[in-house]
Amino acid sequence: MTHTKNATKILKDVFGFDSFRPLQEEIIANILAKRDTLGIMPTGGGKSLCFQLPALMFNGTTVVVSPLISLMKDQIGQLKELAVPAVVLNSSLSPEDYVRNMNRVHRGGVKLLYLAPETLLKERTLSLLADIEVDNITIDEAHCISEWGHDFRPEYRQLAALRSRFPRAVCSAFTATATPQVQKDIQRSLGFDDAHTFIGSFDRPNLYLEVELKEDGGRQVAKYLRNRPNQPGIVYCATRRGVDELTERLRSAGFDVLPYHAGLSEDERKINQEHFINDNVQVMVATVAFGMGIDKPNVRIVIHYDLPKNIETYYQEIGRAGRDGLPSECLLLFSYADIQKVKYFIGQMDETRQRIANIHLSAMVAFAETYGCRRKPLLHYFGEAFDGENCGTCDNCLGEPPVTTNITDDAHSLLKTIRRTNEIFGMHHIIDILKGSKNKKVLAGDHDSLETYGSGEHLSRNQWCHICRQLIQQELLLQDAEFGSLKITDKAVAHFKRKLPVMGVIPEDRPKTVPKKKKKSLDTPDYNEELFEILRKKRKDMADEAGVPPYFIFPDRTLIDMAVHYPQSLESMRAIHGVGVSKLENYAPAFLETVVEFCGCHNIVENPKENIKKMSSSKESSQEPPKKKYVIMGEAINNGLSLEQTASIFGVKIETVMDNLYKYLSDHNTLTRDVRELNEELVRSANVELEDITAAMMAFSESGHTHLKPVFAALEQKIAYDQLHCLRLYYMINHG
Ligand code: ADP
Ligand code: MG
Repeated sequence: MTHTKNATKILKDVFGFDSFRPLQEEIIANILAKRDTLGIMPTGGGKSLCFQLPALMFNGTTVVVSPLISLMKDQIGQLKELAVPAVVLNSSLSPEDYVRNMNRVHRGGVKLLYLAPETLLKERTLSLLADIEVDNITIDEAHCISEWGHDFRPEYRQLAALRSRFPRAVCSAFTATATPQVQKDIQRSLGFDDAHTFIGSFDRPNLYLEVELKEDGGRQVAKYLRNRPNQPGIVYCATRRGVDELTERLRSAGFDVLPYHAGLSEDERKINQEHFINDNVQVMVATVAFGMGIDKPNVRIVIHYDLPKNIETYYQEIGRAGRDGLPSECLLLFSYADIQKVKYFIGQMDETRQRIANIHLSAMVAFAETYGCRRKPLLHYFGEAFDGENCGTCDNCLGEPPVTTNITDDAHSLLKTIRRTNEIFGMHHIIDILKGSKNKKVLAGDHDSLETYGSGEHLSRNQWCHICRQLIQQELLLQDAEFGSLKITDKAVAHFKRKLPVMGVIPEDRPKTVPKKKKKSLDTPDYNEELFEILRKKRKDMADEAGVPPYFIFPDRTLIDMAVHYPQSLESMRAIHGVGVSKLENYAPAFLETVVEFCGCHNIVENPKENIKKMSSSKESSQEPPKKKYVIMGEAINNGLSLEQTASIFGVKIETVMDNLYKYLSDHNTLTRDVRELNEELVRSANVELEDITAAMMAFSESGHTHLKPVFAALEQKIAYDQLHCLRLYYMINHG
């Protein structure tokens, strides 16, 4: 497919990436074929590229609806660094800027227009859009359409009605919310009858998952952070008070951290968030309020200081780590006391919601307690199976297998107590009986007269809870989803009849130390950390000077790539991850200087990238100087881009593209593509009568094309110079 070929080229030239992430290519092809598309991919899956790249290939404009100003600002800012013409209209703009942006859109050439939903609904916006060519309407964060989603936005509902006003535009929608209900809601409200829906895997293999028993949480967090200096991280706490207390504690332990929660003033929150995004402070201590609206790609650590209420929240929060695909770590501090805290919250809800919340909590606890691979329960929650025994990136898969013992007798006591109390009580009451409690409920039910009453003193409550949960996991017990009562399964009956043993783990009641785990082995390439730090500092300085977040300049992966391959020329820089044409010009030279200097001091030679080797060996000579811009542009056009697309991708005027193409052709390069479209574009740009074209062609063939003056004179000065530029190129293409 020619589209695919062009898309791959734009991927490198504009975005600086060598390959697509899963589904990106398919989604892009689908959008380019103007088929309505729904893309469901996890956070960090690379959804933005799925509409940004086709936007560069369409002639007209792509309209992007986004729910948050900070998200729009982030994307516009990054596109600006890539020299992609993108514009935003929302309520945060001053009236002057608003009008200026409207005018820019009206003039045409804007590839991406970001709008708040309410802005798109305005008549003034709609009439602006009626005047231009709209090729794609993209709804980002599309779960906002659904009342079932966690961020329902009523204005999103009305978007569907607008579709009929843009009959030629394709519609695409993206979200990271995978529940079938939300998915159906999106399809239905946007009228995606034959929507092509692409659902990516929700596995995030670059996230290392780990659970640690919480003892002294503050000390544990401090130790964890101390072992990972300079790593951007978020520590989630359940409450505002928790945030304030942990912030204080970490500060007094010498950490530079900032708090974030809904109790702070809006200004304070904004300032703290910006310090984090701009790498002024590495660690945020925050409630759930922090996250949506933050696209910082290099969050390396997410710690849960408290137990999340459910897997969905947990998954969403750990999802903020490692958007850039680099290895990142997620630590959950888990304690049985925290389960009770969540239960207390749940107790405040109305009854139906309590029921659902309890089921969700059980799933979360099962995740925390499991001795198996942690990816399995996590993905299971999203209806996905994890195939493979060992994920290699969670504490259980990397650690020693747990010591199981024969727990038949204890299991027996439990089941007996459950049976004797008619299977209508929950775990805690059963444990009360085993522990010989004298509480009212036990005495009122006469349960102190049971045979098993007080027979469980040798274990702590936590250990009993743990055994109970293991029996549930082994399907010997069933917990009623509605009331929490424990029931004995048929499997258990058969099991005991056959006198089979029950095996399980009895955790140490108070582990003195955190369980020892093998060192994790995530695949960060070996890179020169000293050089990386120098480059990071350079990036920070440049970012501060330009007033943008550091990751706008280059993502971490670019710096790591440099610290692996030590590029010594701009040509080598071009092969580095994240270096497209625009950044090659604006930022690569400064970084090149630093790398060259570092290598000089340390006697290090370049370690060229595979694709550099390939690139140069496929060319005429292996020691070619860096490609000239006109060659890159000429090749882009040969690959099927129009003049206008090339202009927008390279961030130059269309006249500049024409001059570069002329130079390319004068340099004995030929056009290998179909030239009809180019001809049409040129004739349109030249805006002259047909007979003038004929006259000009004759003049060029008589006077040559190196200088325009003689031709200008031969045509009796009737055709202006800028028109002659177009016609000269037309001549080169067709007669040259
Ligand atoms: P999402 O919207 O799905 O959460 P984003 O679009 O914000 O994800 O992308 C996450 C990160 O991945 C960004 O930093 C982006 O530059 C990067 N990215 C996207 N596609 C690619 C790719 N093909 N190769 C490398 N990095 C990519
Ligand atoms: Mg996104």
